[in-house]
Amino acid sequence: MTKRIQFDAPGGPEVLNYVDHDPGAPGPGEVLVRHAAIGVNFIDIYFRSGLYPIASWPSGLGQEAAGTVEAVGEGVSGFAPGDRVGAPFGPLGAYAELQRIPAAKLVRLPDGVSFEAAAAAMLKGLTVQYLFRQIRELKAGDTVLFHAAAGGVGLIACQWARALGVRLIGTAGGAEKCALAKAAGAAEVIDYRSEDVVKRVLELTDGKKVATVYDGVGKDTWAASLDCTAPRGLVVSFGNASGPVDGVNLGILSAKGSLFVTRPTLGTYAATPEMVAVSSAELFGLIAGGAIVPDVSQRFPLAEAGAAQEALAGRRTTGSTVLVP
Ligand code: NDP
Repeated sequence: MTKRIQFDAPGGPEVLNYVDHDPGAPGPGEVLVRHAAIGVNFIDIYFRSGLYPIASWPSGLGQEAAGTVEAVGEGVSGFAPGDRVGAPFGPLGAYAELQRIPAAKLVRLPDGVSFEAAAAAMLKGLTVQYLFRQIRELKAGDTVLFHAAAGGVGLIACQWARALGVRLIGTAGGAEKCALAKAAGAAEVIDYRSEDVVKRVLELTDGKKVATVYDGVGKDTWAASLDCTAPRGLVVSFGNASGPVDGVNLGILSAKGSLFVTRPTLGTYAATPEMVAVSSAELFGLIAGGAIVPDVSQRFPLAEAGAAQEALAGRRTTGSTVLVP
């Protein structure tokens, strides 16, 4: 018998139980993976809390992990026992020692990418890939605003922006987090706990504002994001760390200068194995070349997944958090 995190109803971190679990043998098209490192993402908190719906109970949690193939089911080609693999955005249940997962959700890990680096960077890195390379293809010299720049997605975004020659203005809570974002590649940082973001962005852009704003904070930063966006610019609202943005009157977009808004999800941009292969190859290339160094600032035993989530929701983390089975 192995262990996993399981819950029976939405709620606080206390609903997460560390239980015995037998994933069973892999079925047709499935692979059984023994996890070495598991990624913690804010989306896990949305599922746990009930903001995002759970299809059936009891439920596992977590969508990102890296480890070794233990067994493959009927019809699986391309993976064999002993292979090093990662699931960047799999079905709920990654918070587990062993997981049965569709082969189509797995990628092979290059030699230079450790299990821990993969668990720290796959979901977050594929997110930055579609934010910077697919929604709009950023070019050297572009200026963008990126909220929560010292977080998991944020520190990868800072490094990716530097690699592209993009001038990223990052926001973060407190001097220490601002310093981290700057060291990772943010050209400018704004401490949104003590500074006026809109005023600072106007100063930093000679009054022009920015063409693209990336906002994973949600409710608390939405208004400032609109005010920092240049006429005909784009607000990419990709997360709800402070709560969801709702009740938006579309008229605000015309009032602020014919703005565009998108509310994307990785699910759409990593919808097929081919899409995941292309974007993960790009991410792994940047990791292998040293342009992106996954930053694992917090490690928790799998059994303490609730504490890991509390730290993330409580803004006490920087960079990525992994669970160790
Ligand atoms: P982070 O490590 O970035 O943690 C969230 C950060 O948000 C905190 O560290 C904190 O940084 C900031 N924050 C601001 N206000 C709050 C608040 N009220 N409560 C908690 N945190 C707050 O998390 P992730 O890297 O896992 O994810 C970042 C965002 O990206 C999330 O919103 C997530 O849902 C989203 N996301 C979206 C995807 C998509 O495809 N749409 C895919 C992946 C992630 P500070 O202290 O500096 O303010």
